[in-house]
Amino acid sequence: MPHTVIEKPLARSSAPYDVAAVREDFPVLRREVHGKPLIYLDNAATSQTPRQVIEVFSDYYSRYNANIHRGLHTLADEATAAFEGTRHRVKAFLNAEDARQVIFTRGTTEAINLVVQSWGRSQLAAGDEVLISMLEHHSNIVPWQLLAAERGFTIKVIPVDEQGALDMVAYRELLGERTRLVAVNHVSNAFGTINPVKEMAALAHQHGALMLVDGAQAAPHQLVDVQAIDADFYAFSGHKVYGPTGVGVLYGKQALLEAMPPWQGGGEMIKAVSFDSGTTFADIPHKFEAGTPAIAEVIALGRALEWVESIGVESIGAWEHRLLEHATQAVSQVEGLRILGTAPHKAGVLSFIVDGAHSQDIGLLIDQLGVAIRTGHHCAQPLLHHFGVDATCRASFAAYNTLEEVDAFVAALNRVIGMVR
Ligand code: PMP
Repeated sequence: MPHTVIEKPLARSSAPYDVAAVREDFPVLRREVHGKPLIYLDNAATSQTPRQVIEVFSDYYSRYNANIHRGLHTLADEATAAFEGTRHRVKAFLNAEDARQVIFTRGTTEAINLVVQSWGRSQLAAGDEVLISMLEHHSNIVPWQLLAAERGFTIKVIPVDEQGALDMVAYRELLGERTRLVAVNHVSNAFGTINPVKEMAALAHQHGALMLVDGAQAAPHQLVDVQAIDADFYAFSGHKVYGPTGVGVLYGKQALLEAMPPWQGGGEMIKAVSFDSGTTFADIPHKFEAGTPAIAEVIALGRALEWVESIGVESIGAWEHRLLEHATQAVSQVEGLRILGTAPHKAGVLSFIVDGAHSQDIGLLIDQLGVAIRTGHHCAQPLLHHFGVDATCRASFAAYNTLEEVDAFVAALNRVIGMVR
């Protein structure tokens, strides 16, 4: 039988955090870059993959590669069971009411586009308003802009304060009877700000608006409970949660998903197709999953979530917070360095600029010392422009990073700044 993804998580969560044991699971952490041990601090872009997840691919393609849902043979049954097993695991991971509320997509971007093209296209017209925030990733801005250009609804932007926290007074003022949907990220990828999405959802609902939460940066770091948040939609990506690229999830409230029209047509999403009497569509979730999905990736996502649960997402989040505090303290000693994003509630993301040194140069030179950080606009150009910069350096932490790596990163940063100034 293929690996079953709905088995009970291992009971590793109550033990003290054992980062050495966590690192053992990641083959890539043993490699060198430019002759130096790799220090990987680009986790907000993509986290590394544990061997248990990597093994899913060789197991799947060696033993039970088959198309799902439509086969009557053993391999198809096994692949279908493993694929649907992930749906049940995601349901538990998000605390969704029902596994049918879990729709597989290519990632957060596609999940948001699904909502825009299905719910948005069927619901929004001139006079309506969608609220997004200054903290959004382009994937929660551009899809709305594309549809707004066609349909004539208005996009309004919740501002941030100087620390990079959402201005909740402004949010309350922006909400009104025209507001149809509020779409914000749970955690900002550029600054690490954790947004009060539960409070925001309650306020949105008081105005009859829906709440979409982009959870790309939250799912890897904190417990997500879509029922407690009362999110109408929640999206996340596999490759940021120790899973593979090419797969992500859209959660939606059942009644909403059932009422929404399909957004892509093709195989798998129909009940019956006829030239004479038209086509009827499958029930959720299949209505939104046209074509052959990323089967191995979905199965591997289930394995990744199982891996996260075996450590405990809260333990991971607490460890990353320690790393963030240590790093924040250490970089504060660097002359001319300014941290962008100093909100009281932050996940493990450290964005900064350095006087007299271009972020791009820092990124390239620090790579020569084996340290992978990200430089650029982090797909959040409006936010960076609001803070008067085009680019920042960003170090972001994951379950396998160590305090020693943080020290080595800061030492490397000091060396690099010495070179470019
Ligand atoms: N939203 C946020 C907050 C993100 O950090 C990212 C990825 N950087 C995305 C959306 C888009 O995710 P993906 O590229 O996996 O679709």
